[in-house]
Amino acid sequence: MNQQGNPGSPHTPPAMDRPVVDRAGFGAPNDSLWADNLRALPDLPAENSPPGSCDVAIIGGGLTGLWTAYYLSQLDPRLTISVFEANRVAHGASGRAGGWVMGALDGQAHLMSRLDPALRPTAARIVADSVAEVGRVVSVEDIACGFHHGGLVRIAARHPRQVKTLQAYAAAIAQEGGQDETVEILDPARTAAIAAVRRPLGAVTYPHCATVDPARLTHGLARIVIRRGVRLHQGCRVIRIEPGRIETNQGTISCRIVVPAVEAYAGTLSSTRERIIPIYSHIIATAPLTPVMLASLGLRNREAFSDCSAISTYGQITEDGRVVFGGLSDLPFGGRLDRYTPADFARRHRFLHRVLVDLFPQLTDAPITHAWSGVLGIPRFFRPAIVRDAMRGLVWGGGYVGRGLAASNLFGRTIADLVLERTTELTRMPWVVPDGAVDKGFRRWEPEPLRWIATRALLTPAVALECTLMSRTLPKCARTLIAAGLAALPTLKR
Ligand SMILES: Cc1cc2nc3c(=O)[nH]c(=O)nc-3n(C[C@H](O)[C@H](O)[C@H](O)COP(=O)(O)OP(=O)(O)OC[C@H]3O[C@@H](n4cnc5c(N)ncnc54)[C@H](O)[C@@H]3O)c2cc1C
Repeated sequence: MNQQGNPGSPHTPPAMDRPVVDRAGFGAPNDSLWADNLRALPDLPAENSPPGSCDVAIIGGGLTGLWTAYYLSQLDPRLTISVFEANRVAHGASGRAGGWVMGALDGQAHLMSRLDPALRPTAARIVADSVAEVGRVVSVEDIACGFHHGGLVRIAARHPRQVKTLQAYAAAIAQEGGQDETVEILDPARTAAIAAVRRPLGAVTYPHCATVDPARLTHGLARIVIRRGVRLHQGCRVIRIEPGRIETNQGTISCRIVVPAVEAYAGTLSSTRERIIPIYSHIIATAPLTPVMLASLGLRNREAFSDCSAISTYGQITEDGRVVFGGLSDLPFGGRLDRYTPADFARRHRFLHRVLVDLFPQLTDAPITHAWSGVLGIPRFFRPAIVRDAMRGLVWGGGYVGRGLAASNLFGRTIADLVLERTTELTRMPWVVPDGAVDKGFRRWEPEPLRWIATRALLTPAVALECTLMSRTLPKCARTLIAAGLAALPTLKR
């Protein structure tokens, strides 16, 4: 149980009323449910001091860095590979995520449009198959991380406005495959048969999605790569990247190739700064539910789920029967992760709880044992990329927005190929930008306050819309009018 934990009886008030959680700042601890689960596992073997040199220096002990190490060490066991992690493995988003392992990229339809139409189905298959590849490695390497391939159900579940979002989502997944197929929207009766939500208006199912405890996946992967000879240096922060070497808080290391895998923490390195910015996402988790309570939710296949709300929610039911529910993105001014106080986080967690209970009123009295936050990496074009800079010996991937758990596997495989200068099906994909064209993948963001104002303008209507629709005091006609106005504004979707 973490410091916000509250095991209590079913009538215990949610833990969010207490001073909450970790601030997800660079040095702040990870106090998620997943981090609690990690405490039961033995520590990873410690390296004493960084080496004087290595062939490949990977910066970041999250999934991108570790998947890269995994495939690189498999493809060329003679390589000397070091992973430098400023904190501990799974400190970042990989140890805090909602746990959807989803075979889709943010901005996928746009990425597909860059490809020859004949190649689009292959590219879509490569993305979708990354879920099965994660499942294969988890099984072969025996990583106990609760991997469960139950598919995804997106539901217009609380108010009629959400049907429009559902239709847009169905159109997007039809295009993501590069083909204009029709994706079926289930009628209310079939929706209700899948999930016992408050107002089942329609749903779309998507098979390429699994759920996982992301921290145990990250930790398990670290253990495997260490066993293969990869050196892991926790508590070793990279301060500067220069051609042929990196400077860390524990000394300088010469290396042939550097792979920055720092995602939302891009601001810590001058090579990546301003190209990916951090946006908070917030999560709450219930205590394990009784079998009767679990059965009352539907979701019999433990599908990942989302209501189609403008605050981009995501949920899963864990192996031990908890509901984990996240959403509500926001950008701290200047990308400063230490700006929010515990009260700021608590407000956001309470708001999420209201949405969860509006979605599943059955959960009104379910105790909330964990509430945490983490940062997603947002690139200027809102779609991920892999960039190479052969002159400077850099290969860099990320910018997943909110879909990094499966994508990091795909990108890890691709980065491994690029490091070894192999031309493969993966290196020809449209998210790999030509050598040196860093701006094509990760254009610099506009300076503050412009980006804060722009993202606020996108995020505020989403929250206002939710508040209006959940209001118990506004008359129905006022709610409908205000909601219609707010829904017409663009919002930031995950
Ligand atoms: C709250 C939340 C919910 C999410 N939910 C989902 C989800 O359900 N499904 C999904 O697909 N995606 C989700 N995501 C996104 C996903 O978690 C990320 O895209 C993915 O984990 C990124 O992995 P990464 O290895 O690139 O980055 P990270 O996991 O953030 O790892 C980067 C690591 O680099 C380290 N580091 C940073 N700077 C330095 C430095 N200078 N020197 C050394 N080390 C450094 C950090 O400490 C960190 O451990 C979520 C993210 C958040 C925050």
